[in-house]
Amino acid sequence: MFNLSSVSVPGVSAGPRHVKVLVLGAGPAGLSAALYAARADLEPVVLTGTQLGGQASLTHTIENYPGFPDGVGGAELGDLFQRQAERFGAVVEFDSAQAVDLSKRPFRVQTDNGEYLADALIISTGASPNHLNVPGEVELTGRGVSYCATCDGWFFKDKPVVVVGGGDSALEEALFLTRFASSIKIIHRRDTLRAGAILQKRAFENPKIEFVWDTVVTEIVGNEKVEAVRLKNLKTGAESLLPTEGVFIFIGHTPNTQMFVGQLEMENGYIKVDERMRTSVPGVFAAGEAADPHFKQVVVSAGMGAAAAIEATRFLEQN
Ligand code: NAP
Repeated sequence: MFNLSSVSVPGVSAGPRHVKVLVLGAGPAGLSAALYAARADLEPVVLTGTQLGGQASLTHTIENYPGFPDGVGGAELGDLFQRQAERFGAVVEFDSAQAVDLSKRPFRVQTDNGEYLADALIISTGASPNHLNVPGEVELTGRGVSYCATCDGWFFKDKPVVVVGGGDSALEEALFLTRFASSIKIIHRRDTLRAGAILQKRAFENPKIEFVWDTVVTEIVGNEKVEAVRLKNLKTGAESLLPTEGVFIFIGHTPNTQMFVGQLEMENGYIKVDERMRTSVPGVFAAGEAADPHFKQVVVSAGMGAAAAIEATRFLEQN
């Protein structure tokens, strides 16, 4: 598990705290950036945001991070990243950035607990799961609607659940849910999957998993908790009510970059970076899913984080 004992919670300070490198976000990108910046003696401070370890820490097992031939727990990998960065002097703080001013250096970052001035900034704020935006979804979140099988799967022991989506996340999480749920229906809006071949094969072979093709969820039904989902077949137009106790939604992610709108160049919500992780503002770098519309892999995010820190080091040497 994460080493929360070493995560400091600063009190409200009198003035801004000036640091050489501030890293926003403590997922694979942020903690890798912190490792490299720490080893360059830049004493980076990492703000965890709301999810220490990032999205990867919510994944039960990560099977495609090199160096772990038998897989590694998402939370365990995050903890290893954190300990390695801290060993070289990175400071991880349980705090969230709320507003930034990138108009001049040092960059000003307002957080829940205070204010920072940073000579260089590395943005690794990651992405958040998309919502279906159907009636019942908000009201029943935490009452049967979930965006994290690792967090909530246990509550559905011997119960029927549905999973929405057809990508890697949907299949990976559905496979994880087979440990608990009595049956899993994967609702997908097309009749072919976006997920990779290995996950598809595993899902098709699993006797607990059944696919409902060409279908969308139009409503999540229930009073105190989820009781059913209303479905619509997109090819026939037929509507139906499917009883279920859990609805796990994995329909992609939106980068957490709203704070930087108008200050950094972006494309489709992703921060634009060049091949050296430089954003449109000199001294500001971005890494991981906030700046990666293409790959979204732990190993890629970690690599981007390392690259961002190497570039930040060069930038500080030259400026
Ligand atoms: P994704 O690849 O974008 O897939 C999202 C899925 O949700 C798609 O099947 C999409 O349908 C469906 N969808 C989107 N909006 C929808 C809506 N409003 N209603 C119903 N369905 C909707 O997202 P992801 O699965 O979260 O994966 C994100 C990235 O992380 C990918 O690059 C993936 O490869 C990566 N990832 C990798 C692993 C791994 O390597 N093991 C694990 C998890 C994630 P369409 O197919 O019709 O567009």
